[in-house]
Amino acid sequence: MEMKNEDQITQQAQRPKYDCLLFDLDDTLYPLNSGLANAIDKNIKDYMVEKLGAEPSKTGELVNLLYSNYGTTIAGLRAIGYDIDYEEYYSFVHGKLPYENLKPDPVLRNLLLSLPYRKLIFTNSDKVHTIKALERLGLEDCFEGMICFETLNPIQKSTVFYYEADIKFEGSKSINPTPKNGVECSEIFDIIEHFAQPEPSAVLPETPIICKPSEHAIKLALKMANLNPQRTLFFEDSVRNIQSGKRLGLHTVLVGRSYRVKGADYAMESIHNLKEAVPELWEADIKAQVACPGTEKLAVETSDI
Ligand SMILES: [Mg+2]
Repeated sequence: MEMKNEDQITQQAQRPKYDCLLFDLDDTLYPLNSGLANAIDKNIKDYMVEKLGAEPSKTGELVNLLYSNYGTTIAGLRAIGYDIDYEEYYSFVHGKLPYENLKPDPVLRNLLLSLPYRKLIFTNSDKVHTIKALERLGLEDCFEGMICFETLNPIQKSTVFYYEADIKFEGSKSINPTPKNGVECSEIFDIIEHFAQPEPSAVLPETPIICKPSEHAIKLALKMANLNPQRTLFFEDSVRNIQSGKRLGLHTVLVGRSYRVKGADYAMESIHNLKEAVPELWEADIKAQVACPGTEKLAVETSDI
């Protein structure tokens, strides 16, 4: 009995600080200068012109306003009244990307495989793009699963969540019941005009799309993957996503900058600097004495979802 107690104490004393590493994909697991981000930006603007009839001169401002107010452009487009066919949108935006710029990354692969934690992808991007990018990087088998656009915005109730072990990135069927894109379901809210007013009086319409940086999206992801934020390390290139994650109790690593900002516990220029920036990941943290509060508590906290 005494021995067992000692074992238990030793186990607890050596318990690592984290259970899970949660990774954003774009501009986090591959660098911003890969050219994908620029191509995505161009494709989104082309989509607006070709499919939604936007004026080419206004797409820059429109993208900025939608992105900054709704997290992603697609979330903003839905909010202001466009019925977007998600599959068509993503195939347009991601279909012509310079994926050839993403090369196998054995350095990152070895780093990931040497880390004895649960590892998950949490991205606003769609499943097809996520799998394609991970495959190009040679990282497709480094993660337990992913939480992507379709996971948080399931088209069917029967959507299988991707984080589950051995499901391996399969699940959702792409049947979209909404009308084809470009069909305006009602009047389109003029967001440019809205912000052109000195004191906008109208309330911005809400989006039905769930995505980072909304705290609701992060809470939902944590709940789906059964993660305790206090024991999860969140890797992101987006400052606002980092700050939302921090507000919910996640430990945070800002990727793509060598300096920390408010809300970031760590910062690193490149994900390749992981070992230097967060060496404790490779050590059992002997100071970690705090017991995991358990999933019941998390479920209660997120029961409003
Ligand atoms: Mg990103």
